[in-house]
This record gives sequence, C-alpha cells and structure tokens, in this order.
Amino acid sequence: RKGSVIITGASSGLGLATAKALAETGKWHVIMACRDFLKAERAAKSAGMSKENYTIMHLDLASLDSVRQFVDSYKRSGRPLDVLVCNAAVYQPTAKEPSFTAEGFELSVGINHLGHFLLSRLLLDDLKQSDYPSKRLIIVGSITGNTNTLAGNVPPKANLGDLRGLTGGLNGLNSSTMIDGGEFDGAKAYKDSKVCNMLTMQEFHRRFHEETGITFASLYPGCIATTGLFREHIPLFRLLFPPFQKYITKGFVSEEEAGKRLAQVVSDPSLMKSGVYWSWNKDSASFENQLSAEASDQEKARKIWELSEKLVGLA
Ligand code: NDP
Repeated sequence: RKGSVIITGASSGLGLATAKALAETGKWHVIMACRDFLKAERAAKSAGMSKENYTIMHLDLASLDSVRQFVDSYKRSGRPLDVLVCNAAVYQPTAKEPSFTAEGFELSVGINHLGHFLLSRLLLDDLKQSDYPSKRLIIVGSITGNTNTLAGNVPPKANLGDLRGLTGGLNGLNSSTMIDGGEFDGAKAYKDSKVCNMLTMQEFHRRFHEETGITFASLYPGCIATTGLFREHIPLFRLLFPPFQKYITKGFVSEEEAGKRLAQVVSDPSLMKSGVYWSWNKDSASFENQLSAEASDQEKARKIWELSEKLVGLA
C-alpha cells in the first residue's frame, strides 16, 4: 500500500514543496493539514499534484480545539498514519505587540510549539499502530535556534531561561509572553519556539523510540529565503535577503531542493536513525548535525514537556 503522511502547513513554502516531492513518487498519499482550505487546494493544483495523491484537511494550530477536531476526523477517516511532519510555523519579526492563540498563548510559541505538541501526542498511538516498514515523527527545526552556529548568533538569540513565562502560560496577563519571562520580541519568540521543537523531538525519542520503534527526527533544511515565512518582514529585507543568502552566506536553498530534503527525512531508508537533527552540506549530502547546548539540554527538554502537557490539557 501507499504510505500515509500528514504535513502541517502544506499550503506554501517547505510544506508544499515536500508534499509535491512525495506525491510525485506515487508511493505516498499526502494529507495536507492546513488552516486555509482554498489556499491549500489552489497550491496543490498549481504545484501540479494529482488528486489521487493528496487530501486536504482543516487544521488551525492556533486553536487546541481545532487540533483535537483534526485528530478526531483523521481517526474517523480510517486511514493509517505512517509519518507525521510538524512543519507549519509563523514568524513575526516586526510585530511590536504580541498576538495570541484561541487559548491565549503568545502566537509563535502557541502555533509552532504548543499546537504541534498536542497534535503529535494525540497521534502517537496511530503512528504506533502503523504496520509501515518505517514510521516517523518529524519536527522541522531551524538553525536560528542553534547558538553554536554563526546564523544562530544573530541577535536576538534564542534563550529559554528558567522557563518562568512558559510556566505562567505565556498570556501577558499574569505572566510574560516570552518563555524566559522577558519583554515581547517576535523574532526571539520564533527562535525560542524552534528550540522547543528540537527539544521536543529529542524528548519523544527518549520516551518512546525503544518502545514504539518510531523514528523521531528534526532537521534544518537550509535557508529557504523565498518562502512566505518572511512575509511580515520589512520590504527592503524581503528584497535583499534572498541574494544575501545566495551570494554572501551561501546558505540559500530553493523551495524545491528543501522539499526534497524533507522528503528524504520522511521516506529515505538511510535516514531512519532516531533522535537525529539532520542538516545538508554544500553538495546536498545529509549529515547528523550537532545541536547547541540549550537545544540539547535534557533537563530543559523534560521540563518543557511537562509544562506543555499542562498548558495543552494533557496533564
Ligand atoms: P511558509 O510561511 O511558506 O509556510 C508556513 C506554513 O505554515 C503555511 O502553510 C502556513 O499556512 C502554515 N501555518 C501558519 N500558521 C498556521 C496555523 N495556525 N495553522 C496551520 N497552519 C499554519 O514558511 P516556510 O515554508 O519557510 O516554513 C516551513 C517550516 O520551515 C517552518 O517550521 C520554519 O520554521 C521552517 N524553516 C524555514 C526556513 C526558511 O528559511 N524559510 C529555514 C529553516 C526552517 P498559510 O499558507 O495559511 O499561511
């Protein structure tokens, strides 16, 4: 049978390119989990994906009710689940004020981390039950959360501190909107959320890999400077960022190439190792990358797991 893969945020950028790459193999049925049905349908059509290779399902990660409804409909569809890709994200580098999810969490950590945390916890059993030769849970990471790299050292740096803001619920009422308890900073909130993504992947690996045989992985696909992620940045930045990445840092990858990389992490038999953060070198060969001290801190990973369980109503 075909493999079944759910990709969140498959209506643009990396998610769409990955959906297209997998659909084209004819070996995968892609469930595009998107907040905007029409946009996703148009995107799939213009990418040339053929109808029998994908299904669009509604998912708004800014609402935990929507996450639960998505999981219910998926379970009712009777489809097996072989791979889950947590890809969707928002980035608000120019926001002066925080915005919030339906439950009142600061939006970037709410969507990028908490929504995906609940989604993957609720779908873990379905992955466990899959009889596919290699079942995987992939959470897209980022270099910006790794302060052991040049790009990860561009201020504001990710820093989760003692987690006092997350402990308080990130709601701006009786707690800060930032995980470390500091002043709101949209760029930092994104980077912090990506550190949470990478810590969550490793915590999943420690808790569930041996028992379930599921491969847990994260990745940095390269700098895809052309995606919608930068839509809220100032126009001059959007103009100069792609050539800067292409000619100066040489970290630029096209959406198509990045999609192929993520598709490898989904399906390539040589990328089956669990607990790994994958990156690619200049020749587009994959390798197991090192994470920064904070993004591999086991004690922090455990605390974030437990606090997130409380915030999303699992504990
Ligand atoms: P895009 O903005 O192009 O794609 C983000 C996707 O997430 C869109 O499909 C968007 O939906 C979706 N999304 C946003 N909010 C929600 C929500 N509340 N519920 C459901 N879906 C939502 O960005 P990229 O393709 O660049 O980003 C994809 C991933 O790649 C992210 O995890 C990002 O952190 C990561 N990444 C990107 C890099 C880059 O250089 N671009 C580098 C490293 C990692 P909609 O279409 O409706 O807006």
